[in-house]
Amino acid sequence: MNLYIDNHKFHYEMENLCRAFLFTEDVAVIHEYDTLEKPYILTSVHDEVRVELCTDEVRDALSAPLCDDNELCMGQLLYRLLSKAYDRELPWGILTGVRPIKLFSRLCDRDGEEAARRLFRDTLYVSGEKTALAKQVRDNQAAILSRSDKRSFSLYVSIPFCPTRCNYCSFVSQTVEKAKKLIEQYIPLLLSEIRYTAELTKELDLRLESVYIGGGTPTTLSAQQLDILLSEIEADFDLSTCAEFTVEAGRPDTVTAEKLQTLKSHRVTRISINPQTFSDSVLEHIGRKHTSQQTIDAYRLARELGFDNINMDLIAGLTTDTPKSFEKTIDIVRELDPESVTVHTLAVKRSARLNSSDAVREHGYTAAMLAYAAKELTAGGYEPYYLYRQSKMLSNLENIGWAKPGFFSPYNVYIMEETHSILACGAGAVTKLRDTGSDYLERIFNFKYPYEYISRFDEMIQRKERVKSFYGEYNE
Ligand code: SF4
Repeated sequence: MNLYIDNHKFHYEMENLCRAFLFTEDVAVIHEYDTLEKPYILTSVHDEVRVELCTDEVRDALSAPLCDDNELCMGQLLYRLLSKAYDRELPWGILTGVRPIKLFSRLCDRDGEEAARRLFRDTLYVSGEKTALAKQVRDNQAAILSRSDKRSFSLYVSIPFCPTRCNYCSFVSQTVEKAKKLIEQYIPLLLSEIRYTAELTKELDLRLESVYIGGGTPTTLSAQQLDILLSEIEADFDLSTCAEFTVEAGRPDTVTAEKLQTLKSHRVTRISINPQTFSDSVLEHIGRKHTSQQTIDAYRLARELGFDNINMDLIAGLTTDTPKSFEKTIDIVRELDPESVTVHTLAVKRSARLNSSDAVREHGYTAAMLAYAAKELTAGGYEPYYLYRQSKMLSNLENIGWAKPGFFSPYNVYIMEETHSILACGAGAVTKLRDTGSDYLERIFNFKYPYEYISRFDEMIQRKERVKSFYGEYNE
């Protein structure tokens, strides 16, 4: 589909909306052209806001007078045009942003809850079901968010290594095997970045709310390496105010008794063991080199060793998965009874080995999968407490963090709602500096890949000095 942009700056939003409807089709965004080539969508702002769809089967157009918010107006017109042509509604309507709860909360604070609900439903075309979900998530986050203030910060530590690469992954580098050889060089630098970050926070008198070690797969590290890393964090930071210390033990094939004992001997309060699915054939298809039995064994081992706060990540919409096998996955999760379950919707990124035509067979199933998960998890006593969206998610759905009351992860709420600064260490980590007096957020990017992180470490640390001057300008 050709998406023509005529005299406006809303190309990003219109492209996202088109992609949400035309999931399997390529959308080419064209700013300069002499003629219009079919099939196309033309979006223009001149003496009116206008959208036009032209394919072999359909020719239709909608327009509206110019107004104060031509972007919103164009989004509404395009949504209505495509919804009619493709006979579909999108659950999140014209919302293309990744943080719908943040928007909902802001509207509630500004206009009250009833007005926020109305705006979601009537102006942004969000379904009644998703609007109710937004309210429930907001309510569940309230207690955690109330603890966050201008002195708060959370610490993220990145371990960008995995035993092998899953084929739906867009996070770690292609050359997983090669990258793993860099671990020995990576760790001393990471420790030094952690030390430097801790010094900054002491100097600025900041208060640590949560720690999250993610990746990649942190348990790719040996027990001894994990011990060194955790000892460094404990020595450098005051953990007395820290409500959560998570380590992602994501891939069950990296979990051993020795590593779990190491985590347990430190201040780790929460781990994540991620099945993604309990279907062995789906696991094989997506290139995850472990079986569902390995996940169950790793989970039981963690329980035996005393872990009482375990999360499990699942993905709905994986290639070759079916509603039936997804239901089986949910049923097994309910039997295992972890404290929290994060249900992701597959997002097909360009950098993943899995492409959109692989995923298309599942398109349409995913909403039913999420509905089953919601029904069963609710019955199991879980509640939705954080939610975010990504581009290119199947059926334009969402990722939802479910947890039993008392086990909502503060880090997940803080990172989504961006209420305080996240200081991040390691390759691919992004420090987010938050001014709590306004909406202002400033990012400091670390180098993405381990080899760059290692070779350009000093340059990166220099960038981090900005943390100090930021707190001189904001949050005073
Ligand atoms: S374990 Fe996670 S980060 Fe690692 S390759 Fe698989 S999806 Fe990517």
